[in-house]
Amino acid sequence: MNKKGIVIKSTGSWYTIVDGTSEIQCRIKGKLRLKDIKTTNPVTVGDYVIYEMTTDNTGVILSIEERKNYIIRKSTSFNKEAHLLAANIDQAVIIASLKQPETPLEFIDRFLVTSEAYHIETIILVNKIDLLDNEDIKSLEEFIKIYNNASYNCYAISVKDKINIDHIKTLLEGKVNLIAGNSGVGKSSLINELCPELKLKVAEISQMHKSGKHTTTFSEMFRLNNNTFIIDTPGIKGFGLIDLSKSEIGLYFQEIFKESKNCKYYNCTHEHEPSCSVIKAVNEGRISLSRYRSYINMITEDYAKYR
Ligand code: GDP
Ligand code: ZN
Repeated sequence: MNKKGIVIKSTGSWYTIVDGTSEIQCRIKGKLRLKDIKTTNPVTVGDYVIYEMTTDNTGVILSIEERKNYIIRKSTSFNKEAHLLAANIDQAVIIASLKQPETPLEFIDRFLVTSEAYHIETIILVNKIDLLDNEDIKSLEEFIKIYNNASYNCYAISVKDKINIDHIKTLLEGKVNLIAGNSGVGKSSLINELCPELKLKVAEISQMHKSGKHTTTFSEMFRLNNNTFIIDTPGIKGFGLIDLSKSEIGLYFQEIFKESKNCKYYNCTHEHEPSCSVIKAVNEGRISLSRYRSYINMITEDYAKYR
C-alpha cells in the first residue's frame, strides 16, 4: 500500500522519511523529476513523497507531491543545473546578534530580498541580548525600528539566559521553519535549546559547517515534534540574487516598493533620478538609510557581477 511521508534527510542515494512517528530509509525508483525545474537532486528536505515499503524494511519513493515553494542554489560548475536546498517552507527565521558577532545589516537585507522573492514569511530574532549594556539597548531599539518599519516582526532573545525562548517555540510550532544567520549568532544553540534530544546531531552538523566542507553537504531537517521542523542549510549564503533583475530587487524591499509608486518616472531606480519619492522618504526618515544602502549595493554591485 502507498503511504505519504516528509523527507527530512537526503544523502544522495538514500532519503530519510518521517511518516507519523516512524522514520524510514528510502531509495528512489527510476527517474523522478518534476517538470519545469532542472536540478542536480530530484528530492530535497521538506518534500512530501508517496512511498511504498519493500521486503527488506526500507522504502521506495514513487512520486513527489507538488511543492508549495522551494529554494535552490545555483550550481557553480559549468552545467546550468541548480541544487535544491529545501522545499515547502512555511517560515524563514533569521537569527542576528548585535555583538559577538555583529550581524551586518546588509546580510539580513539580502536574505530578506530572497525570502520575499520566494514568498516566504520571515521573522527576525536578535539573540544574545544578555550581552547588551544600556548604550547597546538603544541600538537594539533602532534595529527593531528599522525592521518593523520594513514590516518584519523582530524578537529579542537570549538562548544563554533563556529569555523569550518559550515565545519562539510557539512561533515555530506546526511549521517547517528555515533557519538562517551568519556564523556564531547562536543557530545551533537555539536548535539545541528548542530540542535537547538533538544535541549531538547539531554539534556534528555545526562542526561540519565550520570546517568549510560545504560542497557535498545536504540540508538537514530537525524534527521538534511531529509537525514542527527546523531546516538548517549549509548553502544558505549562496542562495542568492542571481535570478533577480534590477527592477525586481526594488519589489522585494517592501517599504521601497510602496514609496516607489509616487516616483516621477515609472522605471525609477531611486539612485539619482529627480522627483524620486524613495530618496525623499530616506531624507525624511521614513525609509531607513541602512535599508536604502543595501538596496543600492544590491542593484549596483550584483548587477555588475552577474549580468
Ligand atoms: P552558530 O554558528 O550560529 O550555530 O552559533 P553557535 O550556536 O555555535 O553559538 C556561537 C557561540 O555563541 C557559542 O559560544 C554559544 O555558546 C554562544 N551563544 C549562543 N547563544 C548565546 C546567547 O544568547 N548569549 C551569549 N552570550 N552567547 C551565546
Ligand atoms: Zn525613485
